[in-house]
Amino acid sequence: MSHLTEHYRLLLGLDAAWEVSEVSLCLEEKRVEISLMHLGGRVTCPECGAECSIADHAPERNWRHLDTMQFETRLCARTPRANCKACGVKTSTVPWAGKYSRFTLLFEAFAISVIQACGNVKNAATLLGLDWDSVHGIMERAVERGLERRQLDSLDYLGIDEKSFRRGHSYVTLLVDLTGSRVLEVVEDRTEEAANTLWKVLSHQQKDQVAAVATDMWPAFVNSIESNAEQAEVVHDRFHISKHLNEAVDKVRRQENKALAQADDDRLKGTKQLWLFNPENISEDRWIEFETLKNQELKTSRAWAIKEQFRWLWEYRYAGNARKFFTRWYNWATRSRLKPIIEVAKMLKRHLENILTYFRHRITNAMSEGFNSRIQSIKSQARGFRAFKNFRTRILFYCGKLELLHEKLTHQNS
Ligand SMILES: [Zn+2]
Repeated sequence: MSHLTEHYRLLLGLDAAWEVSEVSLCLEEKRVEISLMHLGGRVTCPECGAECSIADHAPERNWRHLDTMQFETRLCARTPRANCKACGVKTSTVPWAGKYSRFTLLFEAFAISVIQACGNVKNAATLLGLDWDSVHGIMERAVERGLERRQLDSLDYLGIDEKSFRRGHSYVTLLVDLTGSRVLEVVEDRTEEAANTLWKVLSHQQKDQVAAVATDMWPAFVNSIESNAEQAEVVHDRFHISKHLNEAVDKVRRQENKALAQADDDRLKGTKQLWLFNPENISEDRWIEFETLKNQELKTSRAWAIKEQFRWLWEYRYAGNARKFFTRWYNWATRSRLKPIIEVAKMLKRHLENILTYFRHRITNAMSEGFNSRIQSIKSQARGFRAFKNFRTRILFYCGKLELLHEKLTHQNS
C-alpha cells in the first residue's frame, strides 16, 4: 500500500506537513477514500496569518475529489486548529480545498469546466453527480474569486443595456465592456439609481478613461452616464434605434390591418414578420408575397420604406454627411402623415447629437446583444429565478470572462 499512498500524496500536491495515511477502496460502493494526516509542527492562523502552535484537531470531515477510474473519491482529514494568541483557536485552511468548500480545488476546477462546457447547469449537475445547491455554490465561489482578481484598467468603450428578467415588466441592467466583450456587472431594475449602482464597480480613475458609452435613448441611462463619466460621449445604439422604427412600422400595420379588415380585406393579416426583418432574411416564397405587398398603396409599405431608408445613415463615413442625410430623411418621415413614424422621427431628432457620435466611435450594443442568446438560455433554464442574486452569478459566470479557477491552480498552469 505504501507506494499507493505516496502516489496519492504526489497527485494531490500535498506539502510535507501532510501524509496519506490510508487509501481504502470500497469496490461495492465504487468509492475510494483517501485519509490524510497532519504531521504536526506549526500551522498558520487563517485570520491573521501568524505562525501558531496546534491547539487540537477538528473532527474528521471529507472533501469530494476527482473520481479515480469512475470511483467517487473523497479525502478525509482532521484539520489542525491553530492556537493563535491574537485570534483564539481557529481551524486552519487545508492546501487542497478552499475555505468553505466541501470539494477539493481540483474537483472544483473540473466542475467549473464541466459547467462551462455544458452551458446548462442542470445537465452539469447530473454529469457531476451533484445537487443544484452544490453546483450553484461552486459557481458562486468561482465568480467571487474572479471578481476579486478582475482587471478593470483602460476600459474605453462601455455599453449599458437592459434585459427582461422575470415575466412581466421586470428588468435587469447590464454594464458591458464592449472592447473586451464581457459583462462587468448586472443590477436589478432599469432606473437611474440602478444604473448608478453599475458604475460603482469602477474607480474614479477608471471612469475617467471611458471614451464613450453605447445605450438606448432611455433618459435614466443617459443621466447616469452624464453624472458618472462626464467626459464620456453617449452613443445611441443603432440596434435600439432600429427597434424603435420597427415598432412604429408595426403600429402602422396593426392600425391599417384593423381598418382593412372592416372592408373584408385581409392583405396585411399575418404579415408582421415581413415588415420587421431585413429583406435579406426573408425566405424565398415569402419574399414574392412581400414584393407584391410592398409595392401596393399601403400605409404600412410607406412606413416600411421610411424605416428601410434610415439604415443608410450608418453607411456614411463622416458625421457631417450623415447629418445632411438625416435632415432629408426627417422631412420625408414627418410629412408621411403616419403618426407612429412621426413620433419616432421627432425622438431621433431630439437625440441627434448623441446619434451622430457614432461616426466618431463606431460602437454599438450589438456585441452585448450577442449575450442575448446566452442570457436567454440562462433565463430559460431556471424556472423563475426567484433570487436575482442567482441570475447575476450565472450571467457573470458565463459572460464575465472571469478567471474562475482558484489562484493556486492558475499559478500552476502558467
Ligand atoms: Zn490569528
